[in-house]
Amino acid sequence: MIIFKQEKPTLAIHKFTSCDGCQLALLNLGPDLLELAKLVDIKHFAEAGIVASEESVDIALIEGSISTRSEQQRIQRIRQTSKYVIALGACATSGGIQALRNISNAEAWLASLYPDTSVLDSLTTSTPIEESVRVDFTLRGCPVSCQQLIDFLLQLTQKIKPKPIDHSVCQDCKRNQTSCVMVTKQIPCMGPVTQAGCNALCPRINRGCFGCYGPTKQANTVALAKQFKNLGMSDKDIKNSFLHINSHSSAFSTAANSINEDDSSHE
Ligand code: SF4
Ligand code: SF4
Ligand code: SF4
Repeated sequence: MIIFKQEKPTLAIHKFTSCDGCQLALLNLGPDLLELAKLVDIKHFAEAGIVASEESVDIALIEGSISTRSEQQRIQRIRQTSKYVIALGACATSGGIQALRNISNAEAWLASLYPDTSVLDSLTTSTPIEESVRVDFTLRGCPVSCQQLIDFLLQLTQKIKPKPIDHSVCQDCKRNQTSCVMVTKQIPCMGPVTQAGCNALCPRINRGCFGCYGPTKQANTVALAKQFKNLGMSDKDIKNSFLHINSHSSAFSTAANSINEDDSSHE
C-alpha cells in the first residue's frame, strides 16, 4: 500500500554520476510538468533551480550511479530521509555507460590522466543504486521515457502501486505493427532481449534497438548472438552490443563473457 507523509506528496530529484539526461526528460515534460507540480510538492530539483537537498521527502527520484566515496555516503542519507526511493534511468538501475570501468583497469585509466590519483574521490567501480540501498521502484532507459515517467508518477501520487514492466521491445513492435528491421532490413536489433518501456522507439524510426532499457526477464541472449552472427557481425561487435549502456546488468555481462572473440561457436 502506498502511503505518504503529506497529503500532497513531497518530491526530490537527486543527481549522482550521470549526464543529466534523465532530469532533462523530466524538464522536457513541459506543460505536463506544470500539471505534475499540482500533484506533488517539489522540494529539490537543482536542474530546475529548486535547491533543498537535505529535505525529508515522500518520493526521491535518483538519477545516476554510485561512483565516488561521497556518493556512497549521500545515498545512505537520502534513503534514511525518503519514503520511496526510485532509481531513474540506466545509470541508476545498472551503473550506466560509466560501469564499463568495472570490467577495465580503472586505476590505470585514472593514472594515465592524473599525476596524483590519491586526491580523487573516484571509485574504481560504477554501481546501480540498489547495490548501496533498498530501492522501491525502478524506471529504466537512457534516458527514461517522458511518458513512462509521467504515467509512473501519476499512479504513485494516486496511491496506485506501479506495475513493473517485464515484456520485451519486440512485443511493443508487434502491437505498433512496426515492420521488424532485423527481418526486413537485416539491421541488428537488441529488441528481443531488451525490456520494453519506450514503446519500441528505435524500430519505429527504422533503427535497431541498442538495449538501453537493459535485459528483459528470460532474455535469450544466446539465440540473439547467433542471429547477430548470421547477419555478419564479428564476435567483437556482438560482445560490444551487450557491453554498451547496461554492461553491469547480469544477463548482458554474462552474454558478453560467454563470447570469445576468437570463438566460432556462434557460427
Ligand atoms: S541513464 Fe542515460 S540519459 Fe539518464 S543520466 Fe544516465 S547517461 Fe544520462
Ligand atoms: S525490430 Fe527489433 S524489437 Fe522490433 S520486432 Fe524486430 S527484433 Fe524485435
Ligand atoms: S528501442 Fe531500444 S535503444 Fe531504442 S529507446 Fe527503446 S530500449 Fe532504448
